[in-house]
Amino acid sequence: MIKAIRGTRDLLPPDTALWNFVETTARAVFREYNFQEIRTPIFEATELFARGVGEDTDIVSKEMYTFEDRSRAESDKGQSLTLRPENTAGVVRAYIEHNLWDRGLNKLYYIGPQFRRERPQKGRYRQFYQIGAEVIGPTTAGSESPARDAEVLEMLATLLNRLGIQGWTLQLNSVGCANDRPRYVEALREALRPVVGQMCVDCRRRAETNPLRVLDCKVPEDQPIIEKLPRMKDYLDESCRQHFAEVQKILNTAGVPYSLNDRLVRGLDYYTRTAFEFTHGALGAQNAILGGGRYDGLSEAIGGPKAPGIGFAIGEDRLVLSLTEAAETVAPKPDAYIAPLGPGMNAEAVKLARDLRRAGAIVEVGDETFRLKKSLETASKLGTRYAIILGENEAKSNEFALKNLATGQQQTVPRGELAAKLRA
Ligand code: AMP
Repeated sequence: MIKAIRGTRDLLPPDTALWNFVETTARAVFREYNFQEIRTPIFEATELFARGVGEDTDIVSKEMYTFEDRSRAESDKGQSLTLRPENTAGVVRAYIEHNLWDRGLNKLYYIGPQFRRERPQKGRYRQFYQIGAEVIGPTTAGSESPARDAEVLEMLATLLNRLGIQGWTLQLNSVGCANDRPRYVEALREALRPVVGQMCVDCRRRAETNPLRVLDCKVPEDQPIIEKLPRMKDYLDESCRQHFAEVQKILNTAGVPYSLNDRLVRGLDYYTRTAFEFTHGALGAQNAILGGGRYDGLSEAIGGPKAPGIGFAIGEDRLVLSLTEAAETVAPKPDAYIAPLGPGMNAEAVKLARDLRRAGAIVEVGDETFRLKKSLETASKLGTRYAIILGENEAKSNEFALKNLATGQQQTVPRGELAAKLRA
């Protein structure tokens, strides 16, 4: 028996209705903020992620699904390809490749699968889904402006609230920029030197390759050491400080609650200035529903022009886990089950079903070989509200027996009134 690969899963009904509910709501909210959809390829040149996300990150150094193209054509022979582990690099690549700034397309959203070879657990999968959006400049809308950061955060709060998700927390930090971060990283390195010997193996490696990542460490024994390390906020230059202050000011005015977390650095190297995460208490260890931030240097890192940007990615798997909505309430049941009785009734049933469906009803059609009892049982199993009994007499008189499956009550209804009855 061939099974789904570890870390991947089938999304089944009725849960898929929740996924659709999330996606439909996200699309509607994004539209209100003038975002439009982009769809980029599932696989890209490995180099895009190496340069975009960063060689030293966990994602690039150990989690990517990378393979060599088996093509025999010289042009792409042996090219290293990677299943996208995230979508921001792909969107920025497309933005550069198609000169999207010339077309004023600077607010883009995407929905789709991403791939990372992580240890699977609840809320963490190897194929998972992200809903994300990016604002990329240069643009008249001023994508470098703190107003864009605040707009994106306010949009996310609106989306979570509209989905009925309660108990979320927005954690906010500024990770500085190319101008001030090197000084901070240097200070971190120095502060780590005398203590790193007492830390976990990962931290010892990170202290060498990418000291910022030490702040991400979750090992309990390391926490007292990390608490005493220098903080980015004391190293921000004047423009980053002002930028961050302005983001907070706008959020305060807009009434978006947040808490400052100066250890929030995120797992991707491209972030500058604003970095954020929305967490949800009910999710357990994998409590981050979404993360994002500003990436003013990403376009240049992958060979494009200067194009500051800010974006986020929602973990759709986790978002669905945090919904209180039950799948049943967003997955409507069939309104009617047509039970054709006896030979020659299938054609009549298909015709009647088509008319009712055109009038907006969800209709299932039974089979004329079924006995009435079996039809009614099948209808009940589907959770159908009504059964419509269609025998030769009904077909001739154009009046049908409509049976309410919850109450057992039955009435005779003329064909023309059936749709209205189903809707009532
Ligand atoms: P990142 O792209 O790492 O900034 O992650 C953004 C969001 O994607 C996280 O907050 C998670 O909600 C979600 N996410 C990241 N990795 C996974 C995974 N392996 N499985 C499920 N969700 C994930």
